[in-house]
Amino acid sequence: MPLLGRHILSSEQFERGDLDQLFALADRLRPAARGLASCRVLEGAVLASLFFEPSTRTRLSFESAFAKLGGSVISTSSGDATSVSKGESLADTSRVVSGYSDVLVVRHPAEPALREFAGATRVPVINGGNGAGEHPTQALLDLYTLERECARLGTPLDGRRIALVGDLRHGRTVHSLVRLLSLYRDLTLVCVSPAALRMPADLLALCAARGHRVEETDRPDTGLRNADVVYATRLQRERLGGESPEYGEEFRITGALVDACCHEGTVLMHPLPRDTRPGAIDLDPDLDADPRLAVFRQTDGGVAVRMALFASVLGVAEEAVAALRPAGWYRPEQIGVQDAPFHRVRDLDGAGPEAAVR
Ligand code: ASP
Repeated sequence: MPLLGRHILSSEQFERGDLDQLFALADRLRPAARGLASCRVLEGAVLASLFFEPSTRTRLSFESAFAKLGGSVISTSSGDATSVSKGESLADTSRVVSGYSDVLVVRHPAEPALREFAGATRVPVINGGNGAGEHPTQALLDLYTLERECARLGTPLDGRRIALVGDLRHGRTVHSLVRLLSLYRDLTLVCVSPAALRMPADLLALCAARGHRVEETDRPDTGLRNADVVYATRLQRERLGGESPEYGEEFRITGALVDACCHEGTVLMHPLPRDTRPGAIDLDPDLDADPRLAVFRQTDGGVAVRMALFASVLGVAEEAVAALRPAGWYRPEQIGVQDAPFHRVRDLDGAGPEAAVR
């Protein structure tokens, strides 16, 4: 497996074949991700999860994925709780923690920090988000979700019209996602943002060089028109450094806007968190009962993708599939109270948990 023992720092390092292999493995491990099977292939292994920035999904789903593979987790969720606050270098921290663990997941507000971590150790380091740079594993789970949604709708991902909306300058998830999307064919990428928050030019050039159509607009009502996929993002206030770019009401992605511009099969995505406070300009909760909203299918799928990534990087992919055993504990049919029927555990796993587990 090409990912064996590798650091995972940028989505640049993936080829299309890696994605196919990883997603096929995620499909196989899905019953364990969903609590329908156990899979204790990493018993004795230790994940160190070091988060120097806030996180809910990334940290907990990485830790959940590792635990579901039978491994143990040690973690710190703030820079203040480590000796970095005493002046220790990231390289020293990395070298020390690598001696306690078999793989590291690191999130840091500074873009170069992940390379510093990786430069100090041979234990694989996985990027859980480096400043406004990249978030490669979020992109992997986004793409995994997108492929599954396209399969459900009976359309290939190649040839789709994909609107990326919001703070495209600072949003690390879209930076990583665009790199992965560029590996597909004949896409139209519509970048929808205020002028001050445009997608970096090098990423636009990469997509154009790989034969995709790239459009830019500052008007969501134009950008969302006929979109097959809408990937909304949050204004990254923590990265604005005193700037206050115009970010008008028109960037609130509501049911009315989606109904006016999109079609029945449009897939609505967001890396989350979304700001749902009154007056916030983000993906609106009035879409929560809309079956086109795939955000919780994204988060659910993230566990399977991260399990597949750990199994690949640590060289136990085949063993993980062979180790699947039916689980006996209680699981509800639907995870969320508002979940549409296709959120249900059984539906997501095709013929049902028993068939999915050998
Ligand atoms: N959770 C994602 C990230 O860490 C998206 C966001 O924070 O807006 O980049």
